[in-house]
Amino acid sequence: MKPVDRHLADILATVRPLAPLEVEIEAALGAVLAEDVASPVPLPPFDNSAMDGYAVRAEDVAAAPVMLPVIGDVAAGDGGLNALGPGLVTRIMTGAPVPTGADAVVPVEWTDGGTARVRIDRPAQPGNAIRRAGEDVRAGDVVLREGVRIGPAQIGILAGVGRRRVLVRPRPRVVVLSTGAELSEPGTPLGAGRIWESNSFMLAAAVREAGAQGFRAGSVTDDPKEFMDTLDAQLVRADAVITSGGVSMGAYEPVKEALSPLGTVTFEKVAMQPGMPQGFGVVGPDRVPIFTLPGNPVSSFVSFVLFVKPALRAMQGLPAGPPATVRATVTAPVRSPAGKRSYLRAVLTGESVAPVTRQGSHQLAALAGANALIVVPEDETSLPEGAEVEVIPL
Ligand code: AMP
Ligand code: MG
Repeated sequence: MKPVDRHLADILATVRPLAPLEVEIEAALGAVLAEDVASPVPLPPFDNSAMDGYAVRAEDVAAAPVMLPVIGDVAAGDGGLNALGPGLVTRIMTGAPVPTGADAVVPVEWTDGGTARVRIDRPAQPGNAIRRAGEDVRAGDVVLREGVRIGPAQIGILAGVGRRRVLVRPRPRVVVLSTGAELSEPGTPLGAGRIWESNSFMLAAAVREAGAQGFRAGSVTDDPKEFMDTLDAQLVRADAVITSGGVSMGAYEPVKEALSPLGTVTFEKVAMQPGMPQGFGVVGPDRVPIFTLPGNPVSSFVSFVLFVKPALRAMQGLPAGPPATVRATVTAPVRSPAGKRSYLRAVLTGESVAPVTRQGSHQLAALAGANALIVVPEDETSLPEGAEVEVIPL
């Protein structure tokens, strides 16, 4: 059997970051920045008032309370400014440029609010309530580095440095296709021998959570031709494909039957539980990566965490490797088959981790109640209560 780490390494050696693309900043949410972004100007671009109040010379209000003449108003957006002479003040609004000659702003709350003359009740230190040019960003400073995920604040600063468009690695478009003659769409009646299809919903959601775009292509029966036709139709819009089911040792394994003859997808047994039957390769003229995951819902979920999620990171130009782990103490003994790495569903609370009781790879409800996977190494077949284990938080 193939070690888990080698399977991941093979996948990461094949997938490539998507080509960068210039998009409107509004469309950049969730994408990964593909350039360093610098500010062409200092931010703020000019000294401006942090408050509504009066622009003054600090020395003129040092002896407050004082009464001073108000020579005008400076509002946010005002341009050409006259210098402020000694003994004079102007009203000033938040964001308005500080007039030459003024070196402090007195908040309106420290005054009687006068418009022709104003009584200033408290002295202000030089620089009071003034936001200096360049105190957030100096001209030429890089404000965002290549490789950051673009969220709302990043879109804000892109606009804040005057950008309308930006170079990003787009969110990979990932098509999720389930196979199985027994599958019925949720929301429709359940016939004899059938189950509601869950994997494509779960995997498409996992794709989105991983920062990519997940499209459910629904499910097909166990007919290899139907599978292949659906796959072909979906490839045009896919940067990657995930299938579930149809890769085991039984009869009616449409994914294996359809893809094996291509010679570009490898089906292997990976030394893990759940999730032993795995397939990976490329399909179509554009050599789109395809992950053929086993159909048992827990197997398919664990396979996503171990193999697909790192690959999606790599496609987004992000550092990619095995899932991060933490160490915790297990609250009950655990068992694991010899020669396979186990991923046991568990509840992690602080530094202790409790395996859930139902560990079957079909027991999706147990997975839905878990928040972590306990990793039991290949050479361990049992661990006692109190053992220290590695845990993948979900
Ligand atoms: P397979 O890998 O196709 O042999 O499927 C293994 C098990 O997972 C079978 O019990 C299937 O009924 C179940 N299964 C396969 N695909 C799905 C799916 N999309 N949703 C829920 N269960 C599935
Ligand atoms: Mg099946």
